[in-house]
Amino acid sequence: MIAVFSNKEDCCGCSACQQVCTKNAIMMKPDEEGFLYPEIDKSRCVACGRCTDSCPVIRKGNFKESDTPRFYVARHHSQEVLRQSTSGGVFTAISDAILRQNGVIYGADYDKDFHVLHQRAQTPEQRDRMRISKYVQSDMGNTYAQIKADLKKGRMVLFTGTPCQAAGLRGFIGSSPLIDRLYICDLICHSIPSPLIWEEYKGVLEREKGGKLVHVQFRSKKDGWSRANSNKGFLFATDKSPKIQADDRFYQLFFQVGAITRPSCSQCRFTDIHRASDLTIADYWGIEKYSPEWFDPLGVSVIIVNSPKGTDLLEQCRQDLSMEERPKEESLKEQKRLSEPSPFPENRTLFWEDYKRFGFDYVIGKIE
Ligand SMILES: Cc1cc2nc3c(=O)[nH]c(=O)nc-3n(C[C@H](O)[C@H](O)[C@H](O)COP(=O)(O)OP(=O)(O)OC[C@H]3O[C@@H](n4cnc5c(N)ncnc54)[C@H](O)[C@@H]3O)c2cc1C
Repeated sequence: MIAVFSNKEDCCGCSACQQVCTKNAIMMKPDEEGFLYPEIDKSRCVACGRCTDSCPVIRKGNFKESDTPRFYVARHHSQEVLRQSTSGGVFTAISDAILRQNGVIYGADYDKDFHVLHQRAQTPEQRDRMRISKYVQSDMGNTYAQIKADLKKGRMVLFTGTPCQAAGLRGFIGSSPLIDRLYICDLICHSIPSPLIWEEYKGVLEREKGGKLVHVQFRSKKDGWSRANSNKGFLFATDKSPKIQADDRFYQLFFQVGAITRPSCSQCRFTDIHRASDLTIADYWGIEKYSPEWFDPLGVSVIIVNSPKGTDLLEQCRQDLSMEERPKEESLKEQKRLSEPSPFPENRTLFWEDYKRFGFDYVIGKIE
């Protein structure tokens, strides 16, 4: 039997290994922190090595492009799109370009209970649900397999997700010619929080306010788009308390305490300018210093073009985006996750010990 990983730091949870296994020998199971890891059924495993070959962490080069990337500042023309997007609305522009060609979009969505999971969209309405960053690790389900099925039917596909999910998709698809119709867009990613802590947090909001959550939103632009506002502004409402309210305790656990992110994030293999995607999108932090005329309180994006396919996709967005090429040094200076992973805080172990012994109310109570 094969070992897909030996240390938790070596598994990003993308699920490429599980989806590529033709013997259904791998299941993704949550650990005590709520992160999914592959578990191998020894009786089914034939040690074919497909799982390790597709693993974006094990695989030398991590499926990254070797071309020198180009950096752009960009902003959607529509103020409405900017309001409904996390940054400068680039995801909407690139996904519209694919939808115009009868393509299919895959991205992070919520189910009815606000679990975060990857879904498939064929219409702008379905795609709109994928807008706005969700700071929780998304369950990939059988997304890669669905993408392959769409590509085999001749559909054009856009996948969006974290850098490790993007690399997992590359590992899953391999060198198949199907990749010609596949566009991959990743995000510059700080790190990814625990789905279990997200469940606990939703439970606290529902108990405190009464009722069931009917609305949640990370990264609202209620106080404008800026780096200072990027780790606050979480909004929610319940059916018993429908007025939209703000609560930043999840963000505090994520950014200030820093203890709720996946172990592999502390040794992320994807924090450099060579990416396993065609395009990389993120916030254009610092644009007000480098080119103030580009600043917009509704949001501005950086786009990193990593491949000829990325250039091609961006060309198809010209009708929706204002953009300009910029020096890469600006983003390298402002975006730490283009050069190094997010380190674990010293108190990570203590946080999880406290959580296991005393429960979530105790650990969240400590930050109030
Ligand atoms: C966990 C996380 C960490 C991030 N860290 C940084 C950072 O350090 N620096 C930075 O500049 N930008 C970061 N971003 C990216 C930023 O928040 C925006 O997602 C990005 O700029 C796209 O904005 P937009 O306006 O083009 O798209 P929007 O219209 O807001 O669309 C959001 C896009 O993000 C994807 N997405 C949302 N949530 C998830 C998720 N949980 N998992 C996978 N994909 C998801 C959706 O599929 C969609 O493509 C992060 C995003 C996430 C989800």
